[in-house]
Amino acid sequence: MRNFYEDQNIKRKVLIVEDEYINREILGNILMDEYDVDYACDGNEAWEKLAPSAYSLILLDLIMPVLSGTELLARIRNDPNLRSMPVIVMTSERDAEVDSIKQGAADFITKPYDMPEVILARCERIIKLSEDARIIRSTERDSLTDLYSREYFFEYIRRIDTYIRDGKRDVLVLNIDHFRLINEMYGRGTGDRVLKKVADTINGAFRSSLIIASRPMADTFYVYCEHDEKEKGVNFLQEQLDKTFGDLKVRLRAGIYQDADMNIAPEDRFDRAQQTCDRIRGDFLSSVSYYDKDFHVKSVYNERLIKDVDSAIKNHDFVVYYQPKYDITGETPKLCSAEALVRWKHPELGMISPGDFIPLFEHNGLIQKVDNYVWDRAAWQVNEWKKKFGFTLPVSVNVSRIDVFDPQLEEKLRKVLSDNGITEKDLMLEITESAYADNAARVKEVTEKLRSEGLKIGIDDFGSGYSSLNMIMNVTVDVLKLDRSFVGNLKKDEKSLMLIEIIIGIARFLNVPVVAEGVEDEDQLKTLKGLGCEIVQGFYFSEPVPAEEFEDFIKKEVEKNDNN
Ligand code: C2E
Ligand code: CA
Ligand code: CA
Repeated sequence: MRNFYEDQNIKRKVLIVEDEYINREILGNILMDEYDVDYACDGNEAWEKLAPSAYSLILLDLIMPVLSGTELLARIRNDPNLRSMPVIVMTSERDAEVDSIKQGAADFITKPYDMPEVILARCERIIKLSEDARIIRSTERDSLTDLYSREYFFEYIRRIDTYIRDGKRDVLVLNIDHFRLINEMYGRGTGDRVLKKVADTINGAFRSSLIIASRPMADTFYVYCEHDEKEKGVNFLQEQLDKTFGDLKVRLRAGIYQDADMNIAPEDRFDRAQQTCDRIRGDFLSSVSYYDKDFHVKSVYNERLIKDVDSAIKNHDFVVYYQPKYDITGETPKLCSAEALVRWKHPELGMISPGDFIPLFEHNGLIQKVDNYVWDRAAWQVNEWKKKFGFTLPVSVNVSRIDVFDPQLEEKLRKVLSDNGITEKDLMLEITESAYADNAARVKEVTEKLRSEGLKIGIDDFGSGYSSLNMIMNVTVDVLKLDRSFVGNLKKDEKSLMLIEIIIGIARFLNVPVVAEGVEDEDQLKTLKGLGCEIVQGFYFSEPVPAEEFEDFIKKEVEKNDNN
């Protein structure tokens, strides 16, 4: 492999330190063609010329006036900046050769200089060795913090685990909160100082005779060490940071996998600690998080769900259930619509309720795929029932907070309607109030557009968050859907009753109906009816059921109509 010098056509510099003129000349002539040669007549003169990386090699005569070669060699070896510069000593005394190698010379050349090829070959070999060593050292350690680089770190862990099997080990991932901000606000120099401080403090913070650390990414540190009380160490690190960078408010976050399973790959052990650390990102109350089995089982389960989404859509493993909504304004309750609620019939994991995958899929955007599928199935069902019973039952579908941000939302909904041959009146949308808290402007824009196309929009979970009132002041909607908790608490507290009254009052003012969901018994139904609530949905009438089962409700309704 060619290296930098060969690529750039640069001659490496060598320094000949020799007090005898004639020897200097002979040696210089031997090396001149290959190297850029510099000379010093004694140790002092050489010392003056030395600077980090100034020479690729020093050829040093041991016996010189003023400052001897032996002394100069000792000085070089004790200087951290010069330590890695290779030195070949030149001598005619056998004993001195051995001594100088012990003191750190890389090789020796014997006087007189009568074998030029040997001298050239030795110089070449030593330069090559030292350059290789430097490259290896630079990949082994991170130049800023001097901690191990990722690859070496994991390699050394494997060695430790192989050779020292006794004892428990802890795995730590440390991360600096908002490190990017520190860099941006105070400059990279400060950012670097923070990183160095953490690195320099790690060894003292976690007292363990066996400890290695790495900085695998910008502001992330990995620590592998003996098992003990780790929280103290993290607190110590934080104290040190506070002491040094008080005003900067540098905050450390730690994910700790204690007594780690040594039978799993080190990379996976650190993945677990990393996930644990990520779990408390943005959480200002806790800075240390411990890995636990439950969490792991949950994340493996979630990974599985994420992996299976596409095939579930393809194989129709997502099943849409329907829950009836009844109009209670008349004598007897009248079926007026249904809500489409998804379930996942997983071929191996069994029935999964939406509460177990909707929040997860909202987190990673997969919800858009699922919702699209549900809308399409629901629209198909509406049309199917229309054909089968000559009866149009509008169905409402849920629109997730994430869907609201989809620039193609309108287009997708239009396609769902036209693909299934139904109209805007047949499919209603429920947008949860929390979407408005996320991005009021976008919710307003989307709602206005969809309504202008004739779609009806209800606010789901109305009253559950803090933005209900703001939302209805700014956005025109068609239905308010009372949050389940109000109905559930009706018996328990006066406040719920009062709030329902207020909400129904607001709905009157806005001239939109109120849907109460979660109605489970007759008392609740009566109270709601008494308060003037128009539509109810809940286990009192039916749980969400598969489409075939739902047909019984339609049949009953059709019969009632026929009898009138
Ligand atoms: P949600 O939109 O508020 O749906 C109503 C939930 O209340 C449903 O739970 C329903 O089964 C339940 N429920 C209905 N009546 C009663 C009752 O009388 N008592 C009690 N205790 N609960 C009742 P489900 O089906 O488990 O859905 C939970 C949530 O998952 C939904 O809340 C909705 O936010 C979400 N979700 C369900 N399907 C979809 C979907 O297709 N897309 C999206 N984006 N979200 C969905
Ligand atoms: Ca809903
Ligand atoms: Ca709801």
